[in-house]
Amino acid sequence: MPAVSISNKHNMKDLIKSGLRPIIATVIKPLWMWIPRSVYIGTSPVRLLLAITRKCNANCVFCAYQFVRKEDKAHMSDSMFELVLERIRQARIKQVMLSPNIGEPLIAPNFIKKMEHLRAVGVEHIELTTNALFLHHIGLHEMLIDGPDKMNISFAGFDKEMYERDYRVRHYERTRDNILELLRLNKKLDTKREISLWIRGDLPVETLLAAPEMAEVFQLANEVGRMTEVDNWLGLITEDILPKGYILQRAAPRITQRPCMLLWNLTVHPDGDIQLCSCRNIFGDPDLHIGNIKEMTLLEAHSQIEQVLVRWESRSVPTACKTCSMYCDPANGLVGRWREIRREGHKRHAE
Ligand code: SF4
Ligand code: SF4
Repeated sequence: MPAVSISNKHNMKDLIKSGLRPIIATVIKPLWMWIPRSVYIGTSPVRLLLAITRKCNANCVFCAYQFVRKEDKAHMSDSMFELVLERIRQARIKQVMLSPNIGEPLIAPNFIKKMEHLRAVGVEHIELTTNALFLHHIGLHEMLIDGPDKMNISFAGFDKEMYERDYRVRHYERTRDNILELLRLNKKLDTKREISLWIRGDLPVETLLAAPEMAEVFQLANEVGRMTEVDNWLGLITEDILPKGYILQRAAPRITQRPCMLLWNLTVHPDGDIQLCSCRNIFGDPDLHIGNIKEMTLLEAHSQIEQVLVRWESRSVPTACKTCSMYCDPANGLVGRWREIRREGHKRHAE
């Protein structure tokens, strides 16, 4: 869903980078077909998207979770998680993101133990998106000491009625306190976890930002962002199911012959299925299906990404992508990705 950062913590380096990005992308676009794939895919996976659960404890009006089949709303079993750990160790993956498209990672059984196991097989950076509803069950201290390095909190905003209307769940006060206490404790303990707050409510942005809690959030969070429009999730979210105040995205980026950059990383689902696209491929598009982790290593799966890209370039765009409004032109992410691949390569070389 389209979102924009409104935090004022960007330094000069960030501003220069964001200014240069479109200029570099314009130069790269006509040259795309001549850029070697190794520049943006590399020879092995640098990051894994891992759905330790696809269950959620909220039911947001703007999310496709409400349309997902009951059997797909599942936790990953312990035996599957053990297999994933083994595959991560083999592939020497250092970065894991725990929130591909749907599901609340904190409700996965033994969440903190899972973090410890991921670190034990060599993962150095764990990121997730959470609705913060379950934080107190995990324990704020535990979350900051043993939890993820980067947390993106998705929250309607500091207004009880709006929260209940948009996230369709109770416990506003608990969630509000979880968020504020986590930010305060992160500062107090100096744990330096990167915590961002993404506001997604239906009230006007001026109202959302005028909430008294926001002054403290701006001081303590690494980044604050807001959702500008609601994406239609491949046509599933329509205006009639949204509370007044939300704006449904009308325009969609033009899909080009350059395959979407969301295809660069593998996503593993609770049943072991390996998919491409951690964003809008919620129903497991067969065109984006790579295999199952029970039958292949992550290196083998990674080597199959190219086939999907080749098909796209031959004008056989995956079904999910044809109607998707979240297409990301890879020219915009090439430089960052190339640097990421080089950095990970150096780390592995040094081991
Ligand atoms: S919390 Fe996240 S996964 Fe759950 S319904 Fe809301 S947007 Fe979807
Ligand atoms: S176009 Fe949409 S569905 Fe296709 S890879 Fe990109 S985000 Fe995913």
